[in-house]
Amino acid sequence: MRVLSVDFHTHPLADRYYCSFTSPRVPTARDAEDIAGFLAAAAERGIDAVAVTDHDCAGSGWFARRVAEEAGLPMLVIPGVEVTTVVGGWRVHVLAYNLKEDLPPNTLTPWEAVEEIHAQGGVAVLAHPGRDGVLAPYVLSMCLRAGLDGIEVRNRVNGDFDASRWLNEASEWCGRFVLQTAGSDWHWTGSSLLSPGGFSAEVPVEWLVGKGLVTPEEAERALSRRAERQKRMRKTRRAPRRQAAEKRSPEPQRPRLWLGEDFLAGRWCWY
Ligand SMILES: [Zn+2]
Ligand SMILES: [Zn+2]
Repeated sequence: MRVLSVDFHTHPLADRYYCSFTSPRVPTARDAEDIAGFLAAAAERGIDAVAVTDHDCAGSGWFARRVAEEAGLPMLVIPGVEVTTVVGGWRVHVLAYNLKEDLPPNTLTPWEAVEEIHAQGGVAVLAHPGRDGVLAPYVLSMCLRAGLDGIEVRNRVNGDFDASRWLNEASEWCGRFVLQTAGSDWHWTGSSLLSPGGFSAEVPVEWLVGKGLVTPEEAERALSRRAERQKRMRKTRRAPRRQAAEKRSPEPQRPRLWLGEDFLAGRWCWY
């Protein structure tokens, strides 16, 4: 099966576009630089595609895609947005991809958001249900009924979510496929960057193309970049000196940082 590594949840502009609190603004040259730097760092971590999902603002995802295309960056950008929905006073995040127009924040229930996202031809994934504790089963079942396309089962900030109660091994729910995604939820703050890409899911190319998130041509280009990268990695691994270095300091399997540096530094940061 042909797959691409996708990080489904990032904030390369670190919420400079947080539309639920600030009005949309015109992107600047610094925004473009930050996005380019962010995508380059993700590419170094072996990611094939990054979804840019700022809070309640579809604009920055489309902007990031344009930056990547115009600069010829070796990275696929999936335009997205993290929609803030409400259930009984709780805020629940729904990731929307290929959303053309913003949905009103803090207004819809998650399952209403799923329907609105589909009405625009977008793709809907429930973000970090692990964060929402006792609420998660109810929200998830309502969203699945509404046609949810995926569940973010791994999120760097908000932990893992075991979807096996709902989905079988083939990720099927009531006879339809539901993708289990992963997201780093990286918030990039320019010079004080957190390196992106630790959390990603290997996704069948057919799913990405079928959902309209990438074109067949984009997928082919990403697959050949991936093949080249894997070839380079095999070569590097064969080099004995590198092998010895790896033994001394093995690459951690998974980032241990569960609170963003922004959060620790006391800067405003919503995940
Ligand atoms: Zn979130
Ligand atoms: Zn987020």
